[in-house]
Amino acid sequence: MSKPRAYSVKAYSTPGAQSPLATFSISRREPTDNDVQLEILYCGVCHSDLHFARNEWGFTQYPAVPGHEIIGRVTAVGGKVKKFKVGDTVGVGCLVDSCRTCPDCRAGLEQFCPEMVMTYGSTDRHLGTPTLGGYSQGIVVSEEFVLRIPANLSLAATAPLLCAGITTYSPLRRWKVGPGQKVGIVGLGGLGHMGVKFARAFGAHVVLFTTSPGKSADAKRLGAHDVVVSKDEAQMAAHAGSFDFILDTVSAKHDLNAYINLLKRDGNLVLVGAPNEPLPVSAFPLIMRRRSFSGSLIGGLPETQEMLDFCGQHHITSDIEMIRMDQINEAYERMLKSDVKYRFVIDMASLK
Ligand code: NAP
Ligand code: ZN
Ligand code: ZN
Repeated sequence: MSKPRAYSVKAYSTPGAQSPLATFSISRREPTDNDVQLEILYCGVCHSDLHFARNEWGFTQYPAVPGHEIIGRVTAVGGKVKKFKVGDTVGVGCLVDSCRTCPDCRAGLEQFCPEMVMTYGSTDRHLGTPTLGGYSQGIVVSEEFVLRIPANLSLAATAPLLCAGITTYSPLRRWKVGPGQKVGIVGLGGLGHMGVKFARAFGAHVVLFTTSPGKSADAKRLGAHDVVVSKDEAQMAAHAGSFDFILDTVSAKHDLNAYINLLKRDGNLVLVGAPNEPLPVSAFPLIMRRRSFSGSLIGGLPETQEMLDFCGQHHITSDIEMIRMDQINEAYERMLKSDVKYRFVIDMASLK
């Protein structure tokens, strides 16, 4: 494969873990035969962007450009592209490439491919340089990693579905959450509020666990039947041993055992939050009732398209607060205070 030429676009990037993000010029490859080039219209702000910008997971290469909840308009397509044409409105999530031949890729689980290329924090297979995310004017992505957006959904409010949406949809589907089940969602942030919406849409009895008592009314509006303030031991004890499934979306260190104790026999606690510190799990709460503790990572391309189509059919989008690109550093600080209702989305026209 010969190396494609590169061109420049503006982006918001950070030169180091302690530095704020600011305008910078970055390189994108010229579209190859299988590539779709987008002008980015909106980009959601995931807590992973913050973990990554500040090197909390330890693998960030600088300069770093976060952003993996991308909605854009197609500006060019390569000669072999079949699914998209110039002018289409499309989405790109956390993945931009993979090997396409391993068992994970063949199963449509590209997120587990050993050669999976993330939208940021991986190596571009064409240029050999670090991949740079969606806080930018444009991006070039292989056709197979571009998603169709249902025409009836608001574009800005659809952006967070590309990560927060699929990351909650996928485990709720895999563990077959549905009618007759009591399901907990831990944390009402970007992921958590989508988890509440999906669990409710799938027909479960939904309980939201929060550290922010002020979010109770919103949680019910978003679909929760019940809200538990997790710092209140009496409220937690009232639910002991009663849940079929709990999805934990918390971004910081917290006590997992408190949630394992709330599961029924054979119940599942699934972690999607990615704090950088280890979270201790005690043996007894697990073994006494044959409970399970698992993790889940975003979702593959077929399931991401399925989730978007489901959202189109059921009119599900994210509750967003639109920001300008130059408000991103302030948005990160608000995210750390759990002050997001319930996803920031950057209006990329503000990146001048
Ligand atoms: P977010 O919008 O900041 O929401 C996180 C929520 O967790 C907060 O709103 C807060 O909810 C709760 N929380 C925060 N600090 C807490 C603490 N110390 N103790 C207890 N609860 C706390 O973040 P997000 O974008 O939803 O992302 C959540 C996590 O998922 C991040 O770690 C992110 O990196 C990870 N993630 C993983 C995947 C995956 O594929 N597995 C994909 C995307 C993101 P309350 O105010 O309601 O308590
Ligand atoms: Zn994300
Ligand atoms: Zn693969």
